[in-house]
Amino acid sequence: MNNLQARFRSMESYQQDSLQRDSLRRTGQYFSFPIRGYSTSAIGGTHGEGYKGTGFDLFDYNVRGSHPAQDIFVNDRNQDNIDDRTGKPVDILAMSRGLVLAIETDWKPGSDYRGGNWIWVYDPTLHGLFYYAHNSEVDVSPGQWVKAGEKLAEMGRSGFNAYKSRSPTHLHLMYLQIQPNGLPQPLNTYEWLLTARPSK
Ligand SMILES: [Zn+2]
Repeated sequence: MNNLQARFRSMESYQQDSLQRDSLRRTGQYFSFPIRGYSTSAIGGTHGEGYKGTGFDLFDYNVRGSHPAQDIFVNDRNQDNIDDRTGKPVDILAMSRGLVLAIETDWKPGSDYRGGNWIWVYDPTLHGLFYYAHNSEVDVSPGQWVKAGEKLAEMGRSGFNAYKSRSPTHLHLMYLQIQPNGLPQPLNTYEWLLTARPSK
């Protein structure tokens, strides 16, 4: 990712400085809300308190009680991955422009992997990674650029815990900021979600 960052910065299109990026984020011009037809009221909890950042280590597969993510819930009482209001699957959309780095598409019930069918998207403007988990279907491939608001997947219940009936159907959205030392650090996306543009 540091190499990607260096390449991206050397491209002519990379004009914004960090101040401009901050103002973009504040004005709501930067992020798209990651679920079509839904907005901030679908975020778990009342003030984004579902985020628990401490204890998480990306590399040892032990979350230690942390939940460095926001869960965003949809109307799916019978847990069939179909939106009860629209009768259709729920589209997962890219929060921002980025490069799809990796996907999982082969999760099966019984697997103890938590994320299910997931997507990692690297945003070179923010120099960070978005992780979209529990999808039923993934519609992008590694190496593909996506725009903010572009469809990535359809929401599902894949993942060890997400598949259980006690778990309402949701998107698990995580963002990892790449630190100067190259290591990823979870960052709460709640404020970003509040300013994100909803998609109909
Ligand atoms: Zn979650």
